Amino acid sequence: MSIEEKKRKRILTGDRPTGPLHLGHYVGSLLNRVKLQKEYETFIIVADVQTLSTNFDHPEHLPVDVRQVTLDNLSVGLDPEMVNIFIQSMVPQIAELTVFFSMFITVNRLRHNPTIKTEASQHGFEENMTYGFLGYPVSQAADILFCRSDLVPVGEDQLPVVEVSRFTARRFNELYGNVFPEPEGLSGETARLVGLDGQAKMSKSLGNCIYLSDSSEAIRKKLMSAVTDPARIHKDDPGHPEICTIFSYQKAFNRDESLDIEERCRKGTIGCVACKKRIFEVIDKILEPVRERRLKFEKPGLIEDILRKGTEAACIEGDKTMQLVREAMHTDYFDRSNR
Ligand code: ATP
Ligand code: MG
Repeated sequence: MSIEEKKRKRILTGDRPTGPLHLGHYVGSLLNRVKLQKEYETFIIVADVQTLSTNFDHPEHLPVDVRQVTLDNLSVGLDPEMVNIFIQSMVPQIAELTVFFSMFITVNRLRHNPTIKTEASQHGFEENMTYGFLGYPVSQAADILFCRSDLVPVGEDQLPVVEVSRFTARRFNELYGNVFPEPEGLSGETARLVGLDGQAKMSKSLGNCIYLSDSSEAIRKKLMSAVTDPARIHKDDPGHPEICTIFSYQKAFNRDESLDIEERCRKGTIGCVACKKRIFEVIDKILEPVRERRLKFEKPGLIEDILRKGTEAACIEGDKTMQLVREAMHTDYFDRSNR
């Protein structure tokens, strides 16, 4: 059996509906989604099941968060006529594939995954990890492979998890026959944006974020109160941009000016307040068109229609993949009897 002929290469990527999307998503993955949407047939997953891997005790937040994440994706410029935005739990073929894949992915491979280790410690799961949390890379392999995706735009934190998907595709093909392409991870120019606390990556669960849906005023406040270089007491003290969160935002969002700012910071000729004011202007300008698009998509019923259409398209692709999988795995019992 060969991989079914495909007209266009595919992208699968997405987010956990655990809260509004932030600037880390924007630079890590969203910009690539927007840039590549014309070239690739694009599937955007709203990963509600993966949310339950950490938030299983609060499903009541899902309806609001699913809408929010969808709106955030649309507000950065994804065109719902071109891309399929869908809800993970409503594509049953993903759950089926997860079960099949979990038969041959070892527990050790998951336990030693660097992203699993970091996230387990962030959530305090080291001693008491659920089967679903440990296994989320397998479920994510099913998310990526159910539509036989070629490319996965993700932030750096997710690259080790995409490795599990690549291994899963290779192993499946070796064991049963060639069904899946080996998907490649693709990170943005800023692959990991640090959070406002300067400690960890900007992350919905850590509350250290500038959200795409924040008002100008909220962003100004967050930036103006961010910690910079603690050794800098007076504004003409020489600064250390390499340890400054605000400077990392200059590099991510204001690349052209950042060399000059770096030099002036080191010489003590630009103070932290001026530097913060400048990055506020730059970020606020980037978010202006995002705010305008958001208003356009906030009409009652529109998000639901977009998700319904995207989920139907995903189920159709899932069916095609499951036919290939069942044939390869000798589990197409009724079709087999007609041959
Ligand atoms: P949570 O804390 O609930 O896991 P999150 O902020 O990590 O939320 P996800 O939904 O897990 O967001 O990630 C969605 C996508 O955004 C992934 O591709 C991830 O790699 C990317 N991403 C998330 N945070 C950052 C960041 N700070 N810098 C770059 N990319 C990021
Ligand atoms: Mg995450």
